Amino acid sequence: MLSIFCLLHNVVIGYAILDAYMARRNSNGDKNQMSLTQQGYAIVVHGGAGSPRDYDDGCERAAERAVEELGISADALEAAIAAVTVMEDDGRFNAGIGSVLCLDGATVEMDASVMDTKGRLGAIACVQGVKNPVLLARAVAETPHWLLVGEGAARFAAAIGHPQWTEISQRQRDAHAKVLKELSGSMPAMPGIDQRAKAFLRFWNYQKPLELPENAACDTVGAVVRGPDGHFAVALSTGGSAPSLLGRVGDTPVIGSGFYAGSAGAVAATGIGEQIVRHLLARTVYGWIDDGMPLQQALERGIGLFDPAVPVGLIAVSRTEAGSFSNRDMPQARIVKE
Ligand code: ASP
Repeated sequence: MLSIFCLLHNVVIGYAILDAYMARRNSNGDKNQMSLTQQGYAIVVHGGAGSPRDYDDGCERAAERAVEELGISADALEAAIAAVTVMEDDGRFNAGIGSVLCLDGATVEMDASVMDTKGRLGAIACVQGVKNPVLLARAVAETPHWLLVGEGAARFAAAIGHPQWTEISQRQRDAHAKVLKELSGSMPAMPGIDQRAKAFLRFWNYQKPLELPENAACDTVGAVVRGPDGHFAVALSTGGSAPSLLGRVGDTPVIGSGFYAGSAGAVAATGIGEQIVRHLLARTVYGWIDDGMPLQQALERGIGLFDPAVPVGLIAVSRTEAGSFSNRDMPQARIVKE
């Protein structure tokens, strides 16, 4: 009698454990019965709203690298990260070794983020002196925290032996010189801001779109992936937008603004972060996709929220679609396997 009771007890406990396991899976993004057996995948990569389409080749290389990674790990997040590292190492994009200089003309501050539907979420902001910030964001996702910034993020990088990068290329200096030239004005500059950037203070109060100089940088990079198991992931990396004050952080490391991934898809934004955060853009667009709006319509509606003077772009994947939309040229690549 006692042994029958023990058997029943064990079966009940077994079911309870199974239920708890399924509930945890659901809370990690499987709640809409994401197919775990499908074989196809979708990858969309961008090289920043306002960057020339000449850079499409860099996005194509990045997307191809993501396909290779899917062949190795079959993991959507690893694929998105692989794509972003290719663009961080390219030198033409405003990310990784190509990141823009802050207005002091000497400092590079970078932001990056990763998120997927397996529950991984990590970001870094305003970090200096590291190579491949997206890999640092990935490392943060392994800690109890989701976001590390500034000095703490740099110390974390040192503690885990993350590679450093402090070189500033002539290309970065030239881009900065062009921005300064167009910003020249008559207002006194703040400490830490190059004297030639005087007009910056007069024209940008952060409440309205900055009257951007022609050479203002966006060029953030991003990738969204639907993996062969139906999971979604997003990865972003940026040197911020130029011109910017020291310590400035935009939308790229801010969940729901620059990026979002959930059971209905993944969305990445690019453009002027100060404007993007006001619309919680990535989560807003994700919500429309989750409600059943066709993906392209959701992207266009998202961009339609902004004054046309504000450069903005979006990429997204859903269970059945993959797309992009921007109010500027935006280098990009898309690989879809049915
Ligand atoms: N969104 C980025 C930022 O504001 C810039 C970009 O997308 O290029 O930091």
